[in-house]
Amino acid sequence: MYKSILVPIDLANIEKSKPMIEVARKLGAEGSRIILLNVVEEVPSWIANELPAGILEKSSQTSRSELKAMANAAVIKVEVEIRSGHPYKTILLVADEVGTDLIIIASHKPGLQDYFLGSTAARVVRHAKCSVLVVR
Ligand code: ADP
Repeated sequence: MYKSILVPIDLANIEKSKPMIEVARKLGAEGSRIILLNVVEEVPSWIANELPAGILEKSSQTSRSELKAMANAAVIKVEVEIRSGHPYKTILLVADEVGTDLIIIASHKPGLQDYFLGSTAARVVRHAKCSVLVVR
């Protein structure tokens, strides 16, 4: 059983989030930490300067409420974490910080999933120090 499970969620593709949380429930033990993570992608400063004030903070808040709603709907206790940065680097960073022993990630390009892993999933699989489970 895994003690600390990180479940990165891409809010643009949430159809796999329930099965991912279900896998975390099955592979976790009583008292395991399960963390849902969304990474809000950073935009280059020259673009950020052109955006209306507060829009990036609003985007983080929206992500937090969406993940909280997911966490509330889950049958198990899960924590919610929002970070900003590059998705795969930030997923690996949080996994290291937390001391995660399993990352559960999805791969969902319709029609391609039997052949390819998406770029985030592939990079996490390649570079993670812990086990990674890919939900299809
Ligand atoms: P695909 O190319 O198959 O659509 P990606 O490799 O982009 O997939 O994403 C696969 C998985 O990577 C997502 O289901 C999610 O688990 C994780 N992921 C991608 N982007 C993010 C993000 N911004 N925040 C958290 N997790 C992400």
